[in-house]
Amino acid sequence: MYHYIIVGFGVAGYSFAQILEENQRNFIIFDNQSQQSTRIAGGMYNPVILKRFTPAWQAAEMLPYALLQWKKTELKFQKRYIYPIPIYRKLASIAEQNNWMVASDKPVMRDFMQPISFEKIEGVNSDFGFGILKNTGIVNLSQILDDTKKLLLKKKLFFETNFKYQDLKIYPDYIEYQGIKAKNIVFAEGYGLKKNPFFNRLPLTGTKGEMLQIETTANIPYIVKSNVFMAPDVTQKGKYYIGATYNWEDKSNRPTTEARKHLEEKLRQLFTGKYQVVHQKAGIRPTVKDRRPLVGKHPVYSNVFVLNGMGTRGVILAPNMAKALWKQIEFDIPLLEEIDIKRFK
Ligand SMILES: Cc1cc2nc3c(=O)[nH]c(=O)nc-3n(C[C@H](O)[C@H](O)[C@H](O)COP(=O)(O)OP(=O)(O)OC[C@H]3O[C@@H](n4cnc5c(N)ncnc54)[C@H](O)[C@@H]3O)c2cc1C
Repeated sequence: MYHYIIVGFGVAGYSFAQILEENQRNFIIFDNQSQQSTRIAGGMYNPVILKRFTPAWQAAEMLPYALLQWKKTELKFQKRYIYPIPIYRKLASIAEQNNWMVASDKPVMRDFMQPISFEKIEGVNSDFGFGILKNTGIVNLSQILDDTKKLLLKKKLFFETNFKYQDLKIYPDYIEYQGIKAKNIVFAEGYGLKKNPFFNRLPLTGTKGEMLQIETTANIPYIVKSNVFMAPDVTQKGKYYIGATYNWEDKSNRPTTEARKHLEEKLRQLFTGKYQVVHQKAGIRPTVKDRRPLVGKHPVYSNVFVLNGMGTRGVILAPNMAKALWKQIEFDIPLLEEIDIKRFK
């Protein structure tokens, strides 16, 4: 008998597995690679909404624990996954300069927002300067998933297969799936939740995002942000990610020519250097109607749980939401009302 079955191995499933491992609970994972959100994400952590210069919900408060968990992953594999990199927000007007200065004076923002800088950045001009954000950066999520999966495959704890919901049998004290017994099951399928008959009534909307990878000789050691961001590829010198798009209609993982055109148009407004596009990728962010995560227990089955709705901020949210779910299951500690799926009657 396992303690847990986890369905889905994106940043949510990974974060829950990490807590289980820390607490000596055994588990197995099923993943069918139907969703790509974590694998293609920029992996940035940044607690400030860069459009309005306001704090993202709970992000500043949750960042330390998230970074601690990613640090533990580094220690486990003796490998670097966290890359602290400041974000340079291109300011477009005097009004934006003023807004930046006002916002950076607020106590919750002081740890992040720095004074305006007129530093020269190769290929990036800004008449009104840049608002600098510190204590931000990138976590190499896809490498973490690859390294962890390799280890779990070796231990025969990872199944690269589709989870068939109709084969799940639920009993009061345990669940059974194709002859495998476990005390609990946690569904963390990202946008794949739409096919899950236990939770598909939750208002997961899904927002497609696409990114380009470009190659250039320009050396830009920061994440630069205007209408799009340009972020260094932390694994390959001379390569950068340009992103991202937001599409609420198309729910496929296929890259499109429209998105490439859109991103290149915005990139040309930000970056004057020469470049070539070397890759394009797309995924569906598991976004929710009220922009809060979906965490909690099934209303009927006490051993069936969901961990989803990480939206646009999986790097910061997933470790924290995994911890909250763990505490609920093991210690009956109530979830914040804002994240508990009970809020949807
Ligand atoms: C273009 C883009 C850029 C982004 N940039 C950032 C960023 O910079 N910073 C940030 O914090 N967030 C970013 N995000 C958001 C972040 O990627 C998501 O919040 C996060 O990846 C969601 O993780 P998840 O584990 O819930 O879902 P997913 O990563 O989608 O993982 C779900 C997994 O479940 C599997 N699955 C589904 N159904 C089944 C089934 N029936 N059986 C077996 N397996 C199943 C899927 O194949 C998948 O592997 C970005 C997203 C996109 C699309």
